[in-house]
Amino acid sequence: ATFHRRSSIRASTAAAAKAQMVLNWEDVEIGEPKEGEIRVKNKAIGVNFIDVYNRKGVYKTDLPFTPGREAVGVVTAVGSGLTGRKVGDVVAYAGNPMGSYAEEQILPASAAVPVPSSVDHKVAASIMLKGMTVHSLLRRCFKVEAGHTILVQAAAGGVGSLLCQWANALGATVIGTVSSEEKAAQAKEDGCRHVIIYTKEDFVAAVNNITSGKGVNVVYDSVGKDTYQGSLKCLASRGYLVSFGQSSGLPDPIPLSDLATKSLFLTRPSLMHYTATRDELLESAGEVFSLLSSGVLKVRVNHVYPLSEAARAHADLEGRKTSGSIVLIPDN
Ligand code: NDP
Repeated sequence: ATFHRRSSIRASTAAAAKAQMVLNWEDVEIGEPKEGEIRVKNKAIGVNFIDVYNRKGVYKTDLPFTPGREAVGVVTAVGSGLTGRKVGDVVAYAGNPMGSYAEEQILPASAAVPVPSSVDHKVAASIMLKGMTVHSLLRRCFKVEAGHTILVQAAAGGVGSLLCQWANALGATVIGTVSSEEKAAQAKEDGCRHVIIYTKEDFVAAVNNITSGKGVNVVYDSVGKDTYQGSLKCLASRGYLVSFGQSSGLPDPIPLSDLATKSLFLTRPSLMHYTATRDELLESAGEVFSLLSSGVLKVRVNHVYPLSEAARAHADLEGRKTSGSIVLIPDN
């Protein structure tokens, strides 16, 4: 068999006294695709907060590993037994398997979806994981309808930006939280009727004021530790807390009695459970690409880095310096 050596960003343990995971640029032999697999030369790679969780060990992974769960690329080889894929196809993928911080990677053909030719590579690499997450949040976890009032934490982030645009298009009144004036301006443009700068203002009091004490139907909370308790307080009677991330750290356990005060609902969704079958994946991706083509969703590719500088992208994402989506471009 011919082995292909392709450069990847690999997470490994630094030799520092206090073990810390670092990202290195390394050559990795990836080999040939086996039955049911394809090899894809990546054109643009999406950066997501889950990549930070994997790198920091919040989600445990054996070392060394290549991070990354979203990319768009061109098929360069097709394993046996595949009729629906050919060399030259442009495909996008998101979720499992991990390993997209690479010039080229091998993955099951069933994980990839075709990308409409009109869609720019950077946009496609920004909308698969984030857009399908928003689809699961707004259409599956809690079905947002016209007339609902919703609270979106971190409204200017990669997921947050798309979430606000889509919820606004569904007719909801969207309240968003952000950390700066600059991010507030973006959240307004993305459809937030009200924006709260939660680093300067108590967001629970602000939501109480905006809703005249009624509270919101649903809170989409990806910040976790710093916000989840406040998020519960913002809910109306029988409201839903959709806790889908922990950018600030893992929330402490919530006693069931906290839900009883207002008959609240709590869910902790993961995208992979909402795209578990090929049909669900195609439906979710199809809806996202359709809303992109109709102009309902506009992707803000606000940050582009060479793949070899993935560590800088992580530092900026963790440092709350980014808004919208972050894309890595392979050097070749
Ligand atoms: P974002 O672009 O939203 O970046 C995270 C944002 O969180 C920051 O920009 C910042 O916004 C806010 N934040 C608040 N506190 C902190 C903190 N202490 N450290 C860092 N950031 C903080 O990232 P993504 O769009 O990639 O992901 C958003 C969230 O959605 C993540 O929590 C991610 O895990 C989750 N997610 C969950 C999925 C699922 O299946 N459950 C799938 C995809 C994403 P600000 O400066 O405005 O406070």
